[in-house]
Amino acid sequence: MLPSRKTRTIHIRGLPVGGTAPIAVQSMAATRTQDLAATKRQVRILEAAGADLIRIAVDSPADVQALAHIRGETDARLSVDLQENYRLAESVAPLVDKIRYNPGHLHHHEKTKSVRDKVRFLVDIAARHGCALRIGVNAGSIAPEFAERFGSDHVGAIAQCALDHCAMVDELGFVDYLVSIKDSDPFLVIEANRRFAEQRPDVPIHLGVTEAGMPPEGIIKTRVAFEQLIARGIGDTIRVSLTLPFDDKGKEIVVGREILSDIANGRFRSVPPNFFSGLNIIACPSCSRVENERFIELADEVRRMTAYAKEHAVTIAVMGCRVNGPGETDDADLGLWCGPNHVHLKRGPEELGAFTYSEILPRLKHELDAVIAQRSGAPADTHGSS
Ligand code: SF4
Repeated sequence: MLPSRKTRTIHIRGLPVGGTAPIAVQSMAATRTQDLAATKRQVRILEAAGADLIRIAVDSPADVQALAHIRGETDARLSVDLQENYRLAESVAPLVDKIRYNPGHLHHHEKTKSVRDKVRFLVDIAARHGCALRIGVNAGSIAPEFAERFGSDHVGAIAQCALDHCAMVDELGFVDYLVSIKDSDPFLVIEANRRFAEQRPDVPIHLGVTEAGMPPEGIIKTRVAFEQLIARGIGDTIRVSLTLPFDDKGKEIVVGREILSDIANGRFRSVPPNFFSGLNIIACPSCSRVENERFIELADEVRRMTAYAKEHAVTIAVMGCRVNGPGETDDADLGLWCGPNHVHLKRGPEELGAFTYSEILPRLKHELDAVIAQRSGAPADTHGSS
């Protein structure tokens, strides 16, 4: 049996989340929202896999229109991911059951308006349309004021950001909300959620390790975090984020349920001490912003091509779009983000340019060798660097 949880129960169109309710398993459409055929297919795949809730991202009025079509063809519970344009909540709320906002994205639009006013706008809309709300904090897009206040203390910054937003929502008398605090490092996820739950044992928590990457490593990273948190009674709904071909996305739900069943039956998996010490490849799970489906194949090719360097503690991040790619690769030694025809590459903070999908692997290998050589003190061959 899973340990009992102390959070209050909220409802997402008839789905209880928190308290004594079973832990809900959810996922997100990896397709471009405006590609109606692909997104409807994605929703059907996730529904068939048993998703309790399906998230779709919107970034523009055209995305909202697409979501309206999708809403017309499915009874699935839908959640919307507001990317940077928080005002879209107004037009999308009548179509969905839950709204996720990222506190780190509220400063992009209407810079003179306070964050508190923006939160009030979102809460009013959620209340008016009977939607639940998720305060979705992501370490890759931390709000600037928290990054400044906490410096290198990432866990402190993301946990405090969630706490402050809860306080703002509480002041407005809204209770149908939950919180997520995600990072690509499972240990940061464990620590941040543990600290948050200590301060706010009443607030339901959505758990996830973002950009966990491809199976099996992505599943292992997620399992490590979920085992540690759910076994402590922390976590009311989960999402397993994996980089997978769109037609295989149902696996996120299947894996989520397997992990829950294993924890409930005491089947914990141990991870050898060196599991997290070598080469670390993080990759985004894709979403409506993905610009070329080829990105998923590329992530797999990167993994295969770099296998020779598995003993080296180098982090390579592979991201699916040019909007979030540059920021989401900030902490990696080598970062790639994919556009329609080109893949952008950076080494540390230095942008090295854009390469075609056929040019990128040799160039990445060259840069990886240079990083390894630099760390071992050997003279790096800089031929080919720009
Ligand atoms: S990096 Fe881009 S495509 Fe990938 S999940 Fe993030 S926003 Fe979506």
